[in-house]
Amino acid sequence: MADVVFKNVHKKFGDFIAVEGLDLSIEEGEFVSLLGPSGCGKTTTLRMLAGLEFPSSGEISIGDRVVNDLPPGKRDIAMVFQSYALYPHMSVEKNIAYPLKKRGVPRSEQGPMIARVAEMLQLTPLLSRKPRQLSGGQQQRVALGRALVRDPKVFLLDEPLSNLDAKLRGIMRAELVELHQRLGRTMVYVTHDQLEAMTMSDRIAVMYDKKLQQFAPPQEVYREPANRFVAGFIGMPSMNLIDGDLSQEGDRWMFRSGSISVPVGPLVADARGGEACLGVRPENLLLGEGPTPAVVQLVERTGHENIVVVEIEGGLRMTGRVPASTDWKTGETIQMSIQSEAAHVFAAGPTGRRL
Ligand code: ATP
Repeated sequence: MADVVFKNVHKKFGDFIAVEGLDLSIEEGEFVSLLGPSGCGKTTTLRMLAGLEFPSSGEISIGDRVVNDLPPGKRDIAMVFQSYALYPHMSVEKNIAYPLKKRGVPRSEQGPMIARVAEMLQLTPLLSRKPRQLSGGQQQRVALGRALVRDPKVFLLDEPLSNLDAKLRGIMRAELVELHQRLGRTMVYVTHDQLEAMTMSDRIAVMYDKKLQQFAPPQEVYREPANRFVAGFIGMPSMNLIDGDLSQEGDRWMFRSGSISVPVGPLVADARGGEACLGVRPENLLLGEGPTPAVVQLVERTGHENIVVVEIEGGLRMTGRVPASTDWKTGETIQMSIQSEAAHVFAAGPTGRRL
């Protein structure tokens, strides 16, 4: 059952459009990430769901209620922000208790509710400390605890891990996933970090330029990006995107760009020839074999593999990933080819659709 629904939602700030024609239907209990580059409209989307901004047109519902005109306090949601926004003068216990106090929950009932959340988040030994006596990760857990204590229907999280160092982020990612599994609540998570979105989400809503570009499980977004933007945005290192021409030769399609010529397909039924873009993941660029000579420009050693940038005739640069055992040097000429059966084809333009 859909739990959170955006129906043709637009948001304008004066003349500026921040979100355009958003249709999104999130299932009950789902973990959904809103992922996209800075300024794409993801925070505005979350804030509209929270009731901190109101849509200019369209409809937002939570459960079976249209919430367009409901203030945040009436939406049965809890929000966790990037800045933990803890009260510095209050103990951990008082911080967690705050939403209960605000809602007039009797003191006698607060104790067990706080104890349950503290236990769940391993905060029990820290309840009497002040926020400044806690590490970043512990502070983040207190912020989560404050959201959890009311047991809301939907959790909204706005880049909650972005103030943590890389190692702690990894730990908190796993903790959040576990928490989500245990609570079974709907969670909507805003991030520009694709690793977070890929590892935590049931589905990812990729946004760009005010619009939803694709809404699908992580593996699908990776394997079948809906358009050129998603293809280039998801994956590290990025997919190689090569502009060129598509033409039909007999019963197959050929993609050509300079000295590259790759058979592609099958393509969608209404594919047409002309300008197009070929997408090749670094793991599908075969380096060290094939018909095309390429000059090594850069070798990055990550430990378990090498990321290699090569340039072919005409100045086109491409990135490949190879085993750490390869030891090509900058300036060396090697052979390469493109694994054509793994290549993607997109229509021309920044958000050209998958063909
Ligand atoms: P970031 O990752 O940088 O937070 P975002 O994808 O969350 O980016 P939003 O915060 O949703 O982006 O903003 C989308 C666009 O709307 C931006 O261009 C932003 O400048 C604009 N915007 C957001 N809030 C307002 C506001 N209150 N008034 C005017 N413009 C705004």
